[in-house]
Parts: sequence; structure tokens; C-alpha cells
Amino acid sequence: MFALQGDVAEHAHVLAALGARVVPVRAAADLTGLDGLVIPGGESSVMDKLSRLLGVAPAVREGIAEGLPVYGTCAGMIMLAETIANPIGGQQSFGGLDITVQRNAFGGQVESFETSLEVPEVSGEPVPAVFIRAPAVLRAGGDVQVLASVPAHRLESGTPEDSGPVPVAVRQGNLLATSFHPEVTGDWSFHRYFLERMVRPTA
Ligand code: GLN
Repeated sequence: MFALQGDVAEHAHVLAALGARVVPVRAAADLTGLDGLVIPGGESSVMDKLSRLLGVAPAVREGIAEGLPVYGTCAGMIMLAETIANPIGGQQSFGGLDITVQRNAFGGQVESFETSLEVPEVSGEPVPAVFIRAPAVLRAGGDVQVLASVPAHRLESGTPEDSGPVPVAVRQGNLLATSFHPEVTGDWSFHRYFLERMVRPTA
């Protein structure tokens, strides 16, 4: 569990309840021996600064390159994105996931919303999803699997009427990312999917 910033406790609670042993990652050495990493929601620019300051960033990049399963939610999605369309200052990401994201694309804190998503890859039931200053995926590369989308009218501005759906849950190999916060809804489908299908695949 990436633990330098964000809603670490909520994710840790869900992961532990699903039987995972949760290790807080605050230094590069904490990544040694991990089977998977969850990057929570929070503030990506602060995550970036702290990760670089404390030397965690290169270790996470190395883990990603070596196939470490990583699940990023909201700010965590931004950290996994190859490209941030509207970075603050010199904000960097860990990268690895071939997407371009726009931070705060659905509006600010007061425009937060909850919706229900069809995600057949992850759950047989609609999955509740809470969006809080959430990023949108503006571009997804050819190797990126879109797991769920929302209609473009949800975006704050600048979206033509006829634009297609906006991806909000994506996977590329060992990397999973959602724009929304699955740790606050009581629906643990995404955590379960990550643990069962990506961290310790049975098939
Ligand atoms: N807007 C935040 C960012 O840019 C993400 C918000 C969140 O994680 N809920 O990092």
C-alpha cells in the first residue's frame, strides 16, 4: 500500500478484510518482496513530490517495469498515467499505463458524484462508483483495455455533445486504474479483482 499520502487507511481496511497482508510503503525498501501495490486517492502532485523526495519513485517505476501488479485509484490513476494533460508545475507520474489523463476533469469537490457502472470484467452486478475531483482518461493506447466508461456529459467542460464515452476504469497488463474511489462504497469488486486476478492469479 502506497502510504505517503492519500486515503491509505480506507484501502488498507478493505485489502485486509479480503485477506491480504498490508504493508505501508513509505520508502523504496518497503517495496521489496511485495506481491502488489495499491496507490490510493489523494493529491497526485503531493504524491509525486514526496515520492521523488524520499526516493520511492524510481523503485515504483522499477517494480512496474518488472511486472509488479499495481492498482491506482483517482490520484493513483494519475500516478500511473504516462501523460498528464494538465500537470501542476513540473508534476511527474510513475507512468507505465499508456493513457493521457486530465486531472479534476469532472469538476471540483462540490461536483463530486456517485453513479453505478457496468463492469462485466470485474463484477456481475453494477458497481457503485464515487467520483471526487476525479481524473478522466482522454486517450487510451491500443494495449489498454477499457473496463468501464461514463457518458461524456459528465465532464466539466469543453466536451462536444457527440463525444464518445469517457473511460473511467482501465487495465493494461499488470496495471489497473480507476478514476473513482471504490474503497468508500462498501463494494469491494475492484479490490477483489485486483487481488484474485492480478496479484495471485489462479488460472
Ligand atoms: N484531483 C486529485 C489529483 O489531481 C485527485 C483527487 C482524488 O484522488 N480524489 O491528484
